[in-house]
Amino acid sequence: MAAGAAGLWPMIQKKGTIASPGVAIGPALVLDTEEYRIPRRTIDATRVPAQIHILDDALKASREEVRELRLATARQLGDKIATIFALHEEIIADKKLRDVVVGNIENNRYTAAYAFGLQMNELQRRFRNVADPYLKERVRDLFDIEKRVMRHILGRAREDITRLTEPVVVVAHDITPSQAVSFDQEHVLGFAINVGGSTSHTAILARMLGKPAVVALNDITSDVAGGEPVIIDGTHGIVVVNPDPETIERYQAQQAKDRASEIELRELRELPAVTQDGHTITLLANIELSNEARSAMDSGAEGIGLYRTEFLFLSGERAPNEEDQYEAFRTAVRHTGTKPITIRTMDLGADKMMSAMGAHHDHNPVLGLRSLRYCLKNLGMFRTHLRAILRASAHGDVRIMFPMVTNLMELRQAKSTVFDVMEDLEEDEIAFRRDLPIGMMVETPAAAMLASIFVKEVAFFSLGTNDLTQYTLAVDRANERVSDLYAPHNPAVIRLIRQVIRTGRRADVTVNLCGEMAGAPIYTMLLLGLGLRQLSMAPKDIPEVKKIIRLVTLRKCETVVQKVLRFDDDRQILNYLRDRLRDIDPDAI
Ligand code: PEP
Ligand code: MG
Repeated sequence: MAAGAAGLWPMIQKKGTIASPGVAIGPALVLDTEEYRIPRRTIDATRVPAQIHILDDALKASREEVRELRLATARQLGDKIATIFALHEEIIADKKLRDVVVGNIENNRYTAAYAFGLQMNELQRRFRNVADPYLKERVRDLFDIEKRVMRHILGRAREDITRLTEPVVVVAHDITPSQAVSFDQEHVLGFAINVGGSTSHTAILARMLGKPAVVALNDITSDVAGGEPVIIDGTHGIVVVNPDPETIERYQAQQAKDRASEIELRELRELPAVTQDGHTITLLANIELSNEARSAMDSGAEGIGLYRTEFLFLSGERAPNEEDQYEAFRTAVRHTGTKPITIRTMDLGADKMMSAMGAHHDHNPVLGLRSLRYCLKNLGMFRTHLRAILRASAHGDVRIMFPMVTNLMELRQAKSTVFDVMEDLEEDEIAFRRDLPIGMMVETPAAAMLASIFVKEVAFFSLGTNDLTQYTLAVDRANERVSDLYAPHNPAVIRLIRQVIRTGRRADVTVNLCGEMAGAPIYTMLLLGLGLRQLSMAPKDIPEVKKIIRLVTLRKCETVVQKVLRFDDDRQILNYLRDRLRDIDPDAI
């Protein structure tokens, strides 16, 4: 193993799942599952005794806690099971452990929290590298002990991660979408996360924010101590901890290359998305927050194809009231100008939980009371939401879209709620656009298969391939343990997409695609060949997709589709699509 930049610890390279492309280089800010931030902080000499005192108090309190646990476990479950806590007690009481930490505080002037975390990380690292499976398993115990002692050291003094003073790379077990929105965006360079999949909402958010991210890294949080240098290579799904000088140099060169191609792509901004044989494709943007609409339009979008309004409900302690919502929607509409903006009604649930929803947890949240189902069970809240959207519709080309539709009754009930709210607004003499188009996401296999029924009831379809893939393949999109099975190019998903596009075309109903697939150049030829003429994606992805569109002919894309439909397996499809993309743009992958 190469020695890392600090020369102290070895360089470690880990492979995870690609979540957001680009390279970030910076010191780690490690958040554990309880959101503690453990910064590398030095203290002046006079504070050394106080920090040692804090450490000793925390070790003592932890030991007592574990002792109580051991006794209670022995009483209830027997001595054998209780031995696990005896081991914890022994480690916490280990004089050598204390001496190393105290040495770190005295010699390096570290805080007790940082010095303790550093040593626990080192122990975990050593245990993970032994061959004996029993000892390997003890990493979990060390992790447990670390959390316990750390809780006592830090007490209630948690760090505020919404305001940082220096650039950092966030290393965390998981971050919720609401945390991701509230991070100090100026100083967060990128994310390295233990769990999650490429279309989990944390990954989507990182992409939206333009921050490189790698997810599904297993236990990256125990490989890194706060302050250690980290490189995130979001393009290849790699994280390097303690990189050596050559590795840093290589990645800095990559950053410079990325910047140059960004400038080159920016020049495409004003150019139309037209194929070589003259077919125009409409490229729209996905946004999460109202202010993003402005930068989305600046990146060359011809409107907003998906506004994920639920993020408005995720950031605060309380649910936003009608005025809060109206202000946000109006802001987004204002930034979009005369171009269309599709406001999706709140898609809460699964990995997007609002604090007010926390009281009840579904066993299977992805299949539970979420999204439109939740709205139809909480009609008061839904009506307020619709009222705010309708009021905003007076200011621009607003469309309403319902997520997660699975049956006709749901759609009809949702639509009739919109009409009821329209009547209320009329009575109150409040302006709105009466003929605003109402559409639906096609993101469940049921909706795709019944497209010919739904098509009679809506003004447009938008294919939500993130969920459509999840539900068709029965693969949780946020679960890193099955992420190798998550494939939007699976023949089953492609056939459903094709069916929806054909149905829409026959009925003259617009079909858009707003899943992450839309922004991935590897799928551009496939989607065009399948018949899509409208794609909605993260604003950042627009230039690259536009570049591909301008290089292909529709005829060629249709040939690609014919070939793809003959493959039985998603691996073959992916390899074939990769080769075709390389033919037209060798730099694309
Ligand atoms: C989708 O499911 O493809 C989609 C666009 O919606 P979300 O990612 O918000 O679930
Ligand atoms: Mg969805």
